[in-house]
Amino acid sequence: MAAANLQEVVVRLAKEYGEQKPPPLKDPFDFVIYENVSYLVTDEYRWKAFRNLKQTIGLRPEDILSASSDQFRSVVELAGVDKKGRVGKLIRAAQIAMKEFGGKVSSVLELPQKKAVTALKKFPSIGEASAEKIMLFCGKGDELPLESNGLRVLVRIGFGAEEKNYNVMYRNARSAIADQVVRENTWLVSAYLLLRRHGQTICKTSAPFCSKCVVADVCAYGQRKLR
Ligand code: SF4
Repeated sequence: MAAANLQEVVVRLAKEYGEQKPPPLKDPFDFVIYENVSYLVTDEYRWKAFRNLKQTIGLRPEDILSASSDQFRSVVELAGVDKKGRVGKLIRAAQIAMKEFGGKVSSVLELPQKKAVTALKKFPSIGEASAEKIMLFCGKGDELPLESNGLRVLVRIGFGAEEKNYNVMYRNARSAIADQVVRENTWLVSAYLLLRRHGQTICKTSAPFCSKCVVADVCAYGQRKLR
């Protein structure tokens, strides 16, 4: 089996899935709200919940902090499986935005990448990968963040080994791809979204469709399964 090359993998996924676009947001706080507004839902549903919040309450931290319980009622209806928790997280995010950023979270875009990621991790539901993704979608950073779907795809292909500890597996995969990452924003955004899409649709957690996969010939897991 030929060794996998990340750039070739991304080219093949791009041919398969076409152009993938991130949510049309530009402000880091919008992304924080987008992440927190709903839980365990599809992208389409999350976007609907986000738009609903924007229309009924507004997206500024001060809008969220001054919203009434009536305004929050329709937000809760679209909150996914964690209805009460979502409202608490939105309010907490708005409080952090005011306290830590003076209401202007976009100021993180002026910070060096590591400091910006650390700052964004103060928000609820924002870990290192989410923080890097927010920076990337706002045009900053030169790392390829991986959410769980993209990580699963890369590890199965052979970039790093499967580990029980998610953080260890994440770091191993990132070092395995480090010299193949194209450190340019358009490529990074595209690679992030394509790997995620592939993990959501073909390289599923429990039953990957390896016989339909466009990178099966360079995938260690796929080759074992299809033998
Ligand atoms: S061959 Fe199978 S395991 Fe490998 S990337 Fe494709 S779907 Fe995933």
